[in-house]
Amino acid sequence: MPAPKPPFKRLITNYQTNSQGCWIWQGRATKAGYGQIKVFGKIVSVHRYSYELHKGNIAKSLEVMHTCNNKLCINPDHLILGTHKENIKQAIKDKLLDHSKINYKGVGGINRDQSIQVLVKGIAYGSIREAEQVLKLGKGTVRYWVKNKPDIARLITKQEYYQLKNKEYEYK
Ligand SMILES: [Zn+2]
Repeated sequence: MPAPKPPFKRLITNYQTNSQGCWIWQGRATKAGYGQIKVFGKIVSVHRYSYELHKGNIAKSLEVMHTCNNKLCINPDHLILGTHKENIKQAIKDKLLDHSKINYKGVGGINRDQSIQVLVKGIAYGSIREAEQVLKLGKGTVRYWVKNKPDIARLITKQEYYQLKNKEYEYK
């Protein structure tokens, strides 16, 4: 059996360029459209990993943002650091996010932005709508469960969502 490729090699040999100069990740991605890569047993976002490889450490409080709007892009020249708030603002500007779903204040626990992720019967979904579509449920069903049947469905934080999603990937 050949030795496994080191993660940086898997990163830099697994993208295709486009006319905008983006390096489009060809590996696995989350439902939300962000590329992922396994680095020493841990699943991480490819754009974050690319940033760290090419440009250095990312402060804990900061996020890696795309200047090109392409979630799968790993070109370090298209990656900049910003706060979560800046990232959301940029996404709204680029119409990647629906403004009505954002609550900047997020006072006390889960804010509206984070709470759109949902756990239904133990499986994490990126949104209530996504859960209803995948499970072929009528509109409003999951919302009803969230409100009245917390044992079946409950809202989860984005962080929890990614943790659960990453677990699913690991088991694959
Ligand atoms: Zn790009």
